[in-house]
Amino acid sequence: MPAIGVFALQGDVREHVATLSALGADAFTVRRPSELERCDGLVLPGGESTTMAKLARTFDLLDPLRQRVKDGMPTFGTCAGMILLADRIRDGIEGQETIGGLDVTVRRNAFGRQVDSFEADLPFTGLDDPVHAVFIRAPWVEEVGPGVEVLASAEGHPVAVRQGHLLATSFHPEVDGDGRVHRLFLELVGR
Ligand code: GLN
Repeated sequence: MPAIGVFALQGDVREHVATLSALGADAFTVRRPSELERCDGLVLPGGESTTMAKLARTFDLLDPLRQRVKDGMPTFGTCAGMILLADRIRDGIEGQETIGGLDVTVRRNAFGRQVDSFEADLPFTGLDDPVHAVFIRAPWVEEVGPGVEVLASAEGHPVAVRQGHLLATSFHPEVDGDGRVHRLFLELVGR
């Protein structure tokens, strides 16, 4: 049973823990470096990326997170978590830090204020049927590096990507989802 941590200094932690547990993973919260050490894989939840980065810095988690991701720990970022994994951010706040590792540029709050939140059924590479995707003040991916595979798009913009051991979605598969995207992540962890 893989040990999957969910970054828990801020964000929709419970939904991820519940989804992972339902799939048979040993899911637990990560708030300190010792908990990070236990992880076979990590989920970075949705929330507020600026706050999450600041808290990670304050709680001495940012550099250990960067190191683990660099060392190849499978990591799945959803929404704010996608922003945290991105190497480059547009419309971030001044000096906004990321964990990085994913060779993409993401634009925060990209889908605009009018459509702050919306839902869509999206074809998703590797899954037979479309995924029900919930977007909440979501980013999109504007540029991808050569090693990045686009798995799903919405309104012409990539919203799910994979690069080696890293998976990221602009939307929230832990909300109203059926667990299939998390199962894909657990397959990455199992490799
Ligand atoms: N807009 C948020 C941010 O920039 C992300 C929103 C979310 O995670 N649902 O961090």
